[in-house]
Amino acid sequence: MTGANHPLTGNFHVPAPENEPVHEYRPGSAEALSLQAEIKRIGDLTQSIPLSIGGKVFETATTQPVVSPHDHQRVLGRLSLADESHVRAAIEASLDARHDWSRTPWYERVSIFLRAAELMTGKYRDEVNAATMLNQSKTYHQSEIDGVCELADLIRFNAHYAEEIYTRQPKSTQGEQNYLDQRGLEGFVLAVSPFNFTNIAGNLPAMAAMMGNTVVWKPSEKSAVSTDVVRRIFEEAGVPPGVINCVHGDGKMVTDIALADPNLAGLSFVGSTQVFRQLWKKVADHIDTYKGYPRVVGETGGKNAIIAHPSADMQALLTGMTRGAFEFQGQKCSAASRAYIPRSIWTKLKGRLAEQIDSLVVGDVADHPTFLGAVIDEVAHDRLAAAIERANSLDDHTLIAGGTTSKETGYFVRPTVFETTDPTSFALSTEFFGPLLTVYVYDDKDWTQTLKLADRTSQYGLTASVYAGDRKAVAEALDILRDASGYLAINDKPAGMSIGKQQFAGARASGTNDKIGSPLALQRWVSGRFVKENLAPDTDYRYPYMGA
Ligand code: NAD
Repeated sequence: MTGANHPLTGNFHVPAPENEPVHEYRPGSAEALSLQAEIKRIGDLTQSIPLSIGGKVFETATTQPVVSPHDHQRVLGRLSLADESHVRAAIEASLDARHDWSRTPWYERVSIFLRAAELMTGKYRDEVNAATMLNQSKTYHQSEIDGVCELADLIRFNAHYAEEIYTRQPKSTQGEQNYLDQRGLEGFVLAVSPFNFTNIAGNLPAMAAMMGNTVVWKPSEKSAVSTDVVRRIFEEAGVPPGVINCVHGDGKMVTDIALADPNLAGLSFVGSTQVFRQLWKKVADHIDTYKGYPRVVGETGGKNAIIAHPSADMQALLTGMTRGAFEFQGQKCSAASRAYIPRSIWTKLKGRLAEQIDSLVVGDVADHPTFLGAVIDEVAHDRLAAAIERANSLDDHTLIAGGTTSKETGYFVRPTVFETTDPTSFALSTEFFGPLLTVYVYDDKDWTQTLKLADRTSQYGLTASVYAGDRKAVAEALDILRDASGYLAINDKPAGMSIGKQQFAGARASGTNDKIGSPLALQRWVSGRFVKENLAPDTDYRYPYMGA
């Protein structure tokens, strides 16, 4: 459908966005029983996960199994892998769809995605959750807040921000009309998403498409089963053929082709710092051949610190460390993975922390008491096992809790805490992306130096937490940590945000800091054209100062 054919006239408003209520899934409740039935249904299937190009799905001869991390013999899906011809076809399909989609009225584009939000919170709520639980090993709560609530919230709030962007128009005066035409980018957008959040996977293509772009979407192969539910929801909601083209496959091959195409208009990436840097370099390599200057947006790794002042509330700190470092096995980009604790608090906290962490249940996420599932795959398991082994081998590192791993039935890593006396330890600066927290204990008098130490210890700048009762200490932390993170929590864990209230992204090596959950993120996917219409054109070239 093109704008020219659209029958509605008027200035329309999207519904005022509200956060999707989070279901609790208490044991034995109707919602828990319904979700458990869906987990059983999806868990018993081996789904075929196709590519989707130009509105058609393709199953390819080359496939890859997608397994459940906490039960790796369970094959949830067979993922069709794209070859070069599929990637080229996806680019072509997105370029073909661009003309009509970019001229479809914004409120119609937005209403298609709002419909998708209704489907994911209604008809498909159980399926999104079951797929996310099985495929990414998320607990009931972690899955509900990710794949259902946060994705629906992102769509609903982004619809509202889109309206804001389109409504913001220049001044017109008598005799002159001014228009800001917020065009989608010329070309196609390449969206490359990570495994860890179903909502990020869905939001990357949705956000660009909402603003009038057409997209080649390369999701992570590790979370392909849950991503595929989102793809099907978008299609059922009415996203037209060619607007979002989903190609699975080797990331390097897909991005090599897409980033070399002269029509690349933007790269929307979430994932590791190392891969983002490779992609940015490829964009730079092709700069002479692009038709424009592609927008490059990337949100990447972190080494997020919890920094406690001697005036901190110990119980709140204990809860923040436990949830902040170990929910979803520490595989949130925003998870805490280092902590700076004053000695006066540590002497009392250490035993309680060890006891609490050792009591956390690790296992099958369908079991209600489970707090941590498995890490995503064998590579992640081995990376964490190696880091634990290395820390254990160092005299200045002491194991406080956890420290064991197993990959027999699933890729399990016990939540692990080390204490180190080495402020430059690898464990305080390297992102391991798992349930590994390293604590550095400082003398109470060294608060200011500790803030400076935390600021310079890692290359990242994603999230941080400060726990303090003393407001002067908070003010000092806000000042010294000014460039250390894009998201700072005071007396709260560094992970976990609510769309519409908090905005998320980081700087330094953590990304381009285009705040997700804000109009800034959407603004990157439009390119303005200014139109001036003179209603009373001048008819004499001479100015008054020139005299008669
Ligand atoms: P990843 O970088 O391994 O993969 C991300 C995407 O890039 C996937 O689709 C993957 O298939 C693709 N890819 C992998 N190697 C590639 C290559 N050589 N060339 C091209 N594409 C390639 O990241 P991941 O393991 O899926 O996710 C975890 C990482 O993402 C962590 O570093 C985490 O901090 C980060 N992350 C950041 C944010 C944020 O908002 N800052 C959010 C989520 C995750």
